[in-house]
Amino acid sequence: MSRVYNFSAGPSVLPECVLRTAAEEMLDYQGSGQSVMEMSHRSKVYESIIQACEASLRQVLSIPENYKVLFLQGGASTQFAMVPLNLMNRSKKADFVLTGQWAKKAYSEAGKFGTARAVASSADRTFAYIPRLDPASFDPEADYFHICLNNTIYGTKFPTLPETGSVPLVADVSSCILSEPLDISRFGLLYAGAQKNMGPAGLTVVIVREDLIGHPQEGTPTMLDYKIHAENGSMYNTPPTYAIYICKLVLDWIQNEIGGLEKMKALNEEKAGLLYSFLDGSALFKGTVDPDSRSLMNIPFVTGNEELDKKFIKEAEAAGFINLKGHRSVGGMRASIYNAMPIAGVEQLVAFMKEFEAKNA
Ligand SMILES: *Cc1c(COP(=O)(O)O)cnc(C)c1O
Repeated sequence: MSRVYNFSAGPSVLPECVLRTAAEEMLDYQGSGQSVMEMSHRSKVYESIIQACEASLRQVLSIPENYKVLFLQGGASTQFAMVPLNLMNRSKKADFVLTGQWAKKAYSEAGKFGTARAVASSADRTFAYIPRLDPASFDPEADYFHICLNNTIYGTKFPTLPETGSVPLVADVSSCILSEPLDISRFGLLYAGAQKNMGPAGLTVVIVREDLIGHPQEGTPTMLDYKIHAENGSMYNTPPTYAIYICKLVLDWIQNEIGGLEKMKALNEEKAGLLYSFLDGSALFKGTVDPDSRSLMNIPFVTGNEELDKKFIKEAEAAGFINLKGHRSVGGMRASIYNAMPIAGVEQLVAFMKEFEAKNA
């Protein structure tokens, strides 16, 4: 068996020990005589899995008591509608910071349900930075203020959270959840598709302050009402059972093998630091993001020559470094180095880039 180093932006690399445990437990989960995939979601044995997943997530992220954790489907993209349907319920206005394609999608979807306003944008330089925000420009009447905390495509991350006062801060954390500690109490609602840093595709995690639940817009479909899912322990209908199980194994790995999110952050800083410091000193490669807006998880870079970029991606793939092609809107390369990317993967990528530079600069 040989495994590649997978720099995909999502679905993405999972910890090898998680995959091994899943393989070992595939035919007979802990003496139950069945795979987790085959279990009734109403069974005692499955109930213990979903409850353990929630308990671990609460512990790892230090989620306060007055927040609900929901295990949903539909991806982060469904949250672009679900958030306004549930939260745009007073002034029906919301503020958005446009830091990339996902933020723009959240903004335009919300516009179907109320008045979505762009407070700031970094579109002028292909979203290569996080715009400075002036809280005086925020709407104090807004029902919520939306950001995309880590911008997967462009490789930017908010260096600090906007001060929104009593307006609930809502964040798409799909590509940075579990990468470092997060003060949940600063947010009204957080959402993430699991396939970047938590597990397989098919699971969407929502963490929402209790008081924001229960006042959806008229006509909100039952399945898009947070209250329905909160009241039913994410079991109103069949939840994505296997994805939740893998998410639990990933959380166990963070807790027991890594030692929590402070340690996870230190590891992620070490990995990203290796790549950024190489890029900063390279004669051939350069990062595309302003230093004060850099992501720990997604690192885009270019040579400045499209032909050379193509050559690099091709040779890297042949050497076992896959999915390094950048998003079409940025071009060049992008290395997504989520939690599960081992440090050796980044060290070997940097060594490979040095070699390529020596041959091609
Ligand atoms: C991947 C991604 C999305 C889209 O997620 P889906 O689960 O495919 O809907 C949204 N926002 C961010 C920040 C992402 O990285």
